[in-house]
Amino acid sequence: MKICDLHTHTTASDGSDSPEELINLARAVGLSAISITDHDTTAGLDAGANRAKEIGLEFIPGVELSVSFPKGNMHLLGYYIDQGSHLLQSVLSRVQAARAERNPRILHRLRQLGMDLHMPELEEMAQGGQIGRPHIARLMVEKGYVRSVKQAFDKYLKKGGPAYAPKSILSPFEAIGTIREAGGVPVLAHPFSLLTKDPEELEGIIDELKDQGLMGLECYYSEHDEGFTALCLSIARRLDLVATGGSDYHGKAKPYIKLGRGKGNLQIPYSCVEAIKAVRDAL
Ligand code: AMP
Ligand code: ZN
Ligand code: FE
Ligand code: FE
Repeated sequence: MKICDLHTHTTASDGSDSPEELINLARAVGLSAISITDHDTTAGLDAGANRAKEIGLEFIPGVELSVSFPKGNMHLLGYYIDQGSHLLQSVLSRVQAARAERNPRILHRLRQLGMDLHMPELEEMAQGGQIGRPHIARLMVEKGYVRSVKQAFDKYLKKGGPAYAPKSILSPFEAIGTIREAGGVPVLAHPFSLLTKDPEELEGIIDELKDQGLMGLECYYSEHDEGFTALCLSIARRLDLVATGGSDYHGKAKPYIKLGRGKGNLQIPYSCVEAIKAVRDAL
């Protein structure tokens, strides 16, 4: 079976592999297509596309936007976005500014909690990529304040945690509209992170997003068990959304997630790519 991975991160955001390294790895693990979907930036796409072209691997430009939502975390993926879209780049600049303003606030809270953490070392960790909480978590591990990235999130950085600071300034409506305006296909990422287990409630939320222009649902995902994957596939079918999938590979930032394989045996059929192309071509 031909497989793909449509959700990955590079050093342009909080992944640890450069775009070139990621594309090389995609070939090594036998993927037929890959999308780079960094958080709130398109900075890794050109390097990824160029390397993919050199080695003859199918590349899908993507992005992952964080949006505000009362419960859990809502992220929207955009596939085949035109990086040159002025609206997209101005929205990304706004979100990036919100990130830049948020990081010192998180470090300030951690200092109040007794940890000696400062922006220059965080910037060095991120090497020019969009800084996110996983960078802060890695710094906390490096300096011995927590044992693992997971512990950093569980004790301090998760939504509602003592060092949490919100950053989402985009509404789901704006994010979906921006992706559509840029010629892209908007997809709801990892539905499990909405922390809504009731199937009817979940379908209701997704149905509302569809009214706003959503076109796909990330059904195959590292944190989805078989039952939840089946639920997502049935919701996608009922709401006529494209079923997509990705591992959310972050390299060393999430060492338990393997490219194209998730936590073990994830398999994302290449037909997901064909389905995304079909709805894009109908736009
Ligand atoms: P940020 O962009 O700063 O909001 O951070 C988002 C990133 O943090 C995403 O890559 C998430 O997968 C990661 N993340 C969120 N919650 C956790 C958690 N509990 N443990 C590990 N990583 C997490
Ligand atoms: Zn991330
Ligand atoms: Fe995400
Ligand atoms: Fe992601």
